[in-house]
Amino acid sequence: MSKKFIGVVLFVALLSWPAAAQDAKTVISNASKAMGADNLKTLEYSGKAWEGAFGQAVNSSSAWPGFDQETYTRIIDFEKPAWRIDRTLAPVSPARRGGGLPPALNQTVVVNPNTNWAQQLDLWMTPYGFLKAAAANNATANSQTLGGKKYSVVTFMGQNNAKVNGYINEQNMVEKVETWIDNAVTGDTHLEAVYTGYKDFGGLKFPAKTVKKQGDYSIQDLTVTSVKPNAPANIQPPQAAAGGGGPQPTTTSRKLGDGVYLILPGYASIAVDFKDYIVVLETGNSEQRASAIIAEAKKLIPNKPIKYVLNTHNHFDHASGLRTFMAEGVTILTHASNKQYYEKIATMPHTLNPDLLAKNPKKVLIEPIGDKKVLTDGNHVIELYRVQKSTHNDGLIMAYLPKEKVLLEADSWNPPGQPNGPAPLNNPIYNKNLMDNIQQLKLSVETIIPVHYPADSRVVTMSEFMQAIGRTSN
Ligand SMILES: [Zn+2]
Repeated sequence: MSKKFIGVVLFVALLSWPAAAQDAKTVISNASKAMGADNLKTLEYSGKAWEGAFGQAVNSSSAWPGFDQETYTRIIDFEKPAWRIDRTLAPVSPARRGGGLPPALNQTVVVNPNTNWAQQLDLWMTPYGFLKAAAANNATANSQTLGGKKYSVVTFMGQNNAKVNGYINEQNMVEKVETWIDNAVTGDTHLEAVYTGYKDFGGLKFPAKTVKKQGDYSIQDLTVTSVKPNAPANIQPPQAAAGGGGPQPTTTSRKLGDGVYLILPGYASIAVDFKDYIVVLETGNSEQRASAIIAEAKKLIPNKPIKYVLNTHNHFDHASGLRTFMAEGVTILTHASNKQYYEKIATMPHTLNPDLLAKNPKKVLIEPIGDKKVLTDGNHVIELYRVQKSTHNDGLIMAYLPKEKVLLEADSWNPPGQPNGPAPLNNPIYNKNLMDNIQQLKLSVETIIPVHYPADSRVVTMSEFMQAIGRTSN
């Protein structure tokens, strides 16, 4: 670009800056008026919803699986700001494919200085929340034509330094709001809400349909039938969850056999001392956890590099430590169906919250697993099997250590936190599927390492599993 041209661009930019800011105010106030939102302090709306479980797809090329809700009611107090959601869930088929937990029946958020931005966006991405946030945050405006339709695009900066764009159509309705939020797997992740079918509800224009997407797929599909502007709202802060929010528990480990270590707590990992290197099974559920696992493995097995790490499946709670291992130069072992996807996530931009791999990009090595792969150095043996016919995930891998009679499994069976404590949400189809796979492969399992390890860190035996599923013998 020539110096003269840069000068012209700067000059035009300077000239248009105050004009654009002024313009944004007019655009926002016109939209607020047209939508009937000028005096909107609270809002209650209800209808039917579907909500997707982000990052819990049945395979790496499928949409997020979700949960139907028979009723969905949300009340918002824009001034506090706060909101409450009450849901009733439709029955969930045990044969449902994919992971994730159903959304909570009740959710209350009272925004305070510690409320993270991604959560606040649940409010600022609503049409009226967007107009209020844009008015309060020095928004700018420009015109864009998309798909033959003209929009005024109003933009303000989010607390995470990503733009929040609102697309206001020629009828002055907010038709779409988009932004980007950080995710440990997908990096700067696109989030959008599209509002259609605006109708008049007591003077307020409200979209009958909301479709929200995160990453490439839907996370919410809401059809609204009742809207009450300025309905009474008395939203009280939720009770703090017992024991939550404390410091991260320290990493501990114990021997499962000669040169074989279990690393706890939380998302369990195993480190195995091969002749020339370390093999790790499972990467933890965050960069912080993955870094702790790497440090613990190197402390237990000094002076050897970690050469391989097993990723059991592509669900984001099991994949959020992957990029940390990639930054460490470790080869990722995963089902073949994830190879392309993981090569892609290795290169996705993480500018909003740069992680270790973003700061230190590396060539990433991914070794695909089919139905079976055996790792051995002549002494240690690790057998990796694809769990056949899993409805939780198409490429689910479990690891069996024949010498130690240990089986590491993810999500096929989650034992309770205490031996006779309340059972966590367990899917009997997953449990039976795990038993079928163990029997078909004739694995001689004595100890199970569930990746979602029980809170009491007890030894989990095969007989506990059999008891849990109502079997007395093999
Ligand atoms: Zn899973």
